[in-house]
Amino acid sequence: MRLSNKVALITGAGSGIGRESAILFAKEGAQVAVCDVNLATATETVSLIEAAGGEAIAIQADVSKAADAKAMIEAAEAAYGKLNVLFNNAGIFHAADGSVLETEEDIWDLTIDINLKGVFLGCKYGIPALLRAGGGSIINTASFVALMGAATAQIAYTASKGGVLSMTREISVEFARQNIRANALCPGPVETPLLQELLADPARRQRRLVHIPPGRFAKAVEMAQAALFLASDESSFVNGATFTVDGGITAAYVTPE
Ligand code: NAD
Repeated sequence: MRLSNKVALITGAGSGIGRESAILFAKEGAQVAVCDVNLATATETVSLIEAAGGEAIAIQADVSKAADAKAMIEAAEAAYGKLNVLFNNAGIFHAADGSVLETEEDIWDLTIDINLKGVFLGCKYGIPALLRAGGGSIINTASFVALMGAATAQIAYTASKGGVLSMTREISVEFARQNIRANALCPGPVETPLLQELLADPARRQRRLVHIPPGRFAKAVEMAQAALFLASDESSFVNGATFTVDGGITAAYVTPE
């Protein structure tokens, strides 16, 4: 019960990494606010948690909208009386996001609004709640593409994740003496609905797989386990970290054949 007596809010918790994290956090004793723009999938996550004996509520919120971000924090506090863990996980990877030469302005704006502004708004409204609880842990989801470039470009996505990484670092410094920790989770490629279309194409799949030392993509639960560590008091001196969980992609020059 690594999160007993803790209240955690997770955005994008209707799918992939967010759902696995919500399930794991609840299993470890947290009361979980399961937020997603898609209420049906958030409700499904809650059902999975309740079926396993855990406690959670579903909250519909579009993280790119200030009113929704504010309301999701208020709803979590209203339900459980406090907020200890804020996991800004929601993000998109748009099929029309590609080279800087081809990516349209509307795709850029949409991606930055959800992936970067969404994390900003989560922190803007979530940090006061953490302070009211006497401190807490913020986990913002960046990506390994915040650390390295890809010839298979997704320019808006990469830029958004670079922003999440540097924003998280600054937050970690500003609030450190108020008992708030902030860390950026940088996953390598994970088999989730986010990458489903891309990874279903054998050529595009192999183009990426060759760069991953263990020779496989990550599973969502492997990110949830990393997030659990950052959420729990076991990581009490981990702050401002670029928490890379990428199977060694960023360490590799030549990978095994
Ligand atoms: P996913 O597509 O499985 O889940 C994302 C969830 O976010 C969905 O339930 C979706 O409805 C929700 N969402 C989308 N827009 C939203 C909005 N405006 N407001 C609230 N919720 C919204 O994706 P995933 O792979 O679990 O990704 C989770 C996070 O991890 C994202 O930030 C993603 O960029 C990041 N990430 C993923 C990978 C990967 O390979 N899958 C790698 C690095 C980083």
